Amino acid sequence: MKLWEKNVRKVEPYVAGEQPDNKDMVKLNTNECPYPPSPKVKQVIKKIEENTDRLRLYPDKTMAPLINALAEFYGVESDMVFAGVGSDDVIANCFLTFFNSEKPILFPEITYSFYPVWADLYKIPYKTPKLREDFTIDVNDYMGENGGIIIPNPNAPTSIYESLEGIEKIVKANPASVVIIDEAYIDFGGESAIPLVKKYDNLLVVQTFSKSRSMAGMRIGYAIGSGELIAALNNVKNSINSYTLNYVSILAGEAAVKDKEYFDATRNKIIETRKRSMMELEKLGFTFPQSKANFIFATHKDYNITDMFNYLRDNNIYVRHWNNPLIKDYLRITIGTDEEMNRLFDEIKKYMNSK
Ligand code: PMP
Repeated sequence: MKLWEKNVRKVEPYVAGEQPDNKDMVKLNTNECPYPPSPKVKQVIKKIEENTDRLRLYPDKTMAPLINALAEFYGVESDMVFAGVGSDDVIANCFLTFFNSEKPILFPEITYSFYPVWADLYKIPYKTPKLREDFTIDVNDYMGENGGIIIPNPNAPTSIYESLEGIEKIVKANPASVVIIDEAYIDFGGESAIPLVKKYDNLLVVQTFSKSRSMAGMRIGYAIGSGELIAALNNVKNSINSYTLNYVSILAGEAAVKDKEYFDATRNKIIETRKRSMMELEKLGFTFPQSKANFIFATHKDYNITDMFNYLRDNNIYVRHWNNPLIKDYLRITIGTDEEMNRLFDEIKKYMNSK
């Protein structure tokens, strides 16, 4: 052991889904959108390309064009919006800002696997209430004393949406905690909790451009909550890095938010393909919860899921699988284009015929 090693912070990092770059692959493993961003985003980037001189300067650290566009879109004041480098960055800042109690924070046992990583990194104690047998959340598990709460809605990777009444019950019962609702997948059929932020100053809603706005590569996430929560979040953020979003992201993000028509068309296409995909998977004998996200969490009683996952991967179809014993019999399948889904179904049929 080197002498300096005892001073090194040891962490077990989050492992994101793989990003292979194979020709002809079908990539359904990280819940990206299969469609390009709004054409308005392209126009903005072209304009910047014509005059890159602006890149000499630091970006606007208030991120005003993006923040104002989001405030207008959601009908809130600009001081109720925070933005960061993807919602991962936003949520990491939230953990550091709001989960600063000796009491354990709460998040579901099966959920986004980054949460325990941030909790460990920042030495935040946590408890993980079990889901019900059908993978739904029992809101009564979030009524006791705690140091904060974070729940994705829809949950990941289960794809299950919890009603807004259930979410409100949790927020209302916890006036002494900040309750964060991670709505990475809300645009695919759920009802957002954003309107509730005007009623509850302890509620923070986090969303992302990575899924329904087709901009995972731009890394833009945001949070909406009371002015007090956003000010606290900005204080922490400005104690780490004042300039988070780059100049291009701020303007490209603004353009995307302003193109509501394209946003609605894209998410509706995903919802349609999801409906058809659920029917196809059902015909093949899979079972899964009703998805309100851009992915399906599917299992099959007659086939070994790990084996099927490896077969698909060997045949250039990437879906997500975890070795976690609680969910090892499930595949998380991102909704791609109709053509991509057809290729997936064809490969699954080939796999089944080979058994
Ligand atoms: N929350 C949940 C529930 C997610 O699944 C993801 C995507 N991995 C994120 C947050 C982070 O997304 P991003 O950083 O791309 O905004």
